[in-house]
Amino acid sequence: MRVLVYDDEEDFASFVQEAVEDQGHHVTMVTNAAEFAENFSAETDLIFLDLFMPDVNGIECIRFLAKTGTKALLVLMSGQDPAILNAAREGARASNLTVLDVLQKPIALSAIEDVLDAADATIMSTRQRSAAQAEACCDLQGDDVLEGLQKNEFFVAYQPQLRLENRSVAGLEALLRWQHPECGAVSPAVFIPLAEQSPAVMSALTEFVLKTACYDLIALSGLCPNLKVSVNVSATSLDEIALPDMIQNIVRGIGLENHRLILELTETAASSNLGQAIDILTRLRMAGFGVSIDDFGTGYSSLEQIVQVPFTELKVDQRFVKELLTSDKCRAVCEISCLLARKTGMLPVAEGVEDEATAQELLRLGFVLAQGYHFAKPMAKPQLLDWLRAHDQDTTGVAAAAGG
Ligand code: C2E
Ligand code: CA
Ligand code: CA
Repeated sequence: MRVLVYDDEEDFASFVQEAVEDQGHHVTMVTNAAEFAENFSAETDLIFLDLFMPDVNGIECIRFLAKTGTKALLVLMSGQDPAILNAAREGARASNLTVLDVLQKPIALSAIEDVLDAADATIMSTRQRSAAQAEACCDLQGDDVLEGLQKNEFFVAYQPQLRLENRSVAGLEALLRWQHPECGAVSPAVFIPLAEQSPAVMSALTEFVLKTACYDLIALSGLCPNLKVSVNVSATSLDEIALPDMIQNIVRGIGLENHRLILELTETAASSNLGQAIDILTRLRMAGFGVSIDDFGTGYSSLEQIVQVPFTELKVDQRFVKELLTSDKCRAVCEISCLLARKTGMLPVAEGVEDEATAQELLRLGFVLAQGYHFAKPMAKPQLLDWLRAHDQDTTGVAAAAGG
């Protein structure tokens, strides 16, 4: 969670900050209105707000927040009369803000911990509800995915992967997008599980992404001759023993060198039917394709299984990267994953990098490649072209000349 703590009493704000950090969340502490306005963003999940401050009162803050239409959860705090706290709560609710709790000062550590647990649960159920609503609104089925594909409603967005050392672009991750005429942008979190219900539908999607990505990479050759492209392969595709032939035929037909394509598989995908997964992945490796273990740290495979599969790169899951600087546990996962990758000949990759401090720390830990909103969001091809042109041409050129 991204948490903002606003209290003019610095000691008290620090106490709350520490309590929240100890639970592994990302906290920003502010003590005046200007800092509050500067640090509040659409990404803020939870706000601890003192109601009585000298420069601006909490009610004005509530008005400010209401205008932004934020979905952040609010915890109101005060040492004053509980009746005032409750009145403020009602006011905030009337302005469509979500007040999670009101806390009467002095506040016990356990009360903060309880609030954090409640916030976690609320955020989780809101996310599940909105995913379900998105699905229900159009009641999409697997067949709709196939129809959308035939009607050209799908396109591929690309997110650049950068070398941390010099920020040159090493590759692109191809990410599917569905612009549905009635539902608008449908998230991959909704349509990939739908497609996975039918091997034929998932296979059609994979084929579309592969072809588009290979064509686009060739079209980009003039600008960036040595870029690689990473394509996600669903767990269900590992049940198809013919997958390596399908991929090889597409790539050969388009005329791309095999080493410029990387297939990304999640850890869970590779461990569910390990024997067949090893067979398929080994054939892909022997043909010269790259294979990446995606979302590393979220599955349950043993280290033995991982070293049996001939992966060329390891992508540590973004949830650990996001909390690298704020959680000792996430830091440990990043460190160990990077070490494991290096010791077993895999390229260590980090995704979900959202700020410069995290990028610096990843480099220090030994990560080689990184992607994330800090560098660039996934972009459709025209925006990607603009971005690549605007991105430090010198570093791209130098890296290309050095052999990518
Ligand atoms: P993934 O493979 O782990 O892809 C990374 C996801 O993280 C993408 O979400 C990307 O937009 C997002 N992301 C990248 N940088 C940041 C960041 O700094 N902050 C945050 N908050 N997010 C970031 P997206 O595009 O919504 O894709 C979600 C998942 O859907 C992908 O996760 C992948 O598992 C699946 N997916 C997407 N395209 C395909 C596809 O063509 N085939 C298959 N099988 N799965 C796909
Ligand atoms: Ca991926
Ligand atoms: Ca991932």
